[in-house]
Amino acid sequence: MNAECGLCESPIPAGYLCERDAVALSARLAQLPDLDSELSMHLVPARSGFGEMVATLSAAGPRSPINEAVFDELHDNRAAAVAHSWRVDVQRERWPQHTPPPASGLAADCRWLGMELDWIAAEYPAAGELAREVRELEAQLRSLVGDPVPRRQRLGLCVASTDDEDGVCGAVISRLPGETRLVCRWCRCVYEAKDFLMLGHFQPKENA
Ligand SMILES: [Zn+2]
Ligand SMILES: [Zn+2]
Repeated sequence: MNAECGLCESPIPAGYLCERDAVALSARLAQLPDLDSELSMHLVPARSGFGEMVATLSAAGPRSPINEAVFDELHDNRAAAVAHSWRVDVQRERWPQHTPPPASGLAADCRWLGMELDWIAAEYPAAGELAREVRELEAQLRSLVGDPVPRRQRLGLCVASTDDEDGVCGAVISRLPGETRLVCRWCRCVYEAKDFLMLGHFQPKENA
C-alpha cells in the first residue's frame, strides 16, 4: 500500500506520518513543556503571583513593558489545552472503551503523546494535523520567548539518479544549522557534510 505523509505529503510505505516528521514531532513534544515554562518565567517576576501580574498589566496601560502576546498565551494556557485535546482524541481512537483522561498538565500530555508516537504515525489518520498543530505551537512559543525556530537552509535539489524518465530525483534538500547528515525524503539517498558543496555544483541552471 502506498500512503502519503499527513504533514509533508511525501510518499511513505504505509501509515500517516513519514519518519522525518515523526522524529521531529517527538522532539517537539519533548521541548514544548520547557518552552512553556520558559514563557512563564519571561512574564512573571520572581515572588509575584498571577493576580499581581494582572494588576500590573492593566495599570501599566498601552505602553506596558509586559508583552501582551505573552500574557494572552499564558492566560489561555493554549499549549496545554491543545496537547490535552489531542491526547483525548488519540486515546478515544485507540482505546474507545476507556474513560477520557483527566486534565494532567502539558508535560504529562506531551510525554503520553510521545510514548504513543509509533502508533500515531502508523495508525492515527489525524497524525498530520496533530504534527502541524504541535509545530505551530512550538513556533509560537519560540517566537514569544525570543528563540525563533531555526530556518532550514536550502542546499538544492536531490541529484540522485532514478529509474523514471527524468532520471533525477529532484526533491528539495535542505538542512538545519548544525545538521551534517541528510536523507532525501523521496529517494532516501544520504548526503553527508562533505557532499553539501558538491550538491550546489550539480544543480540544474535555474536552481543553482
Ligand atoms: Zn512528512
Ligand atoms: Zn532524492
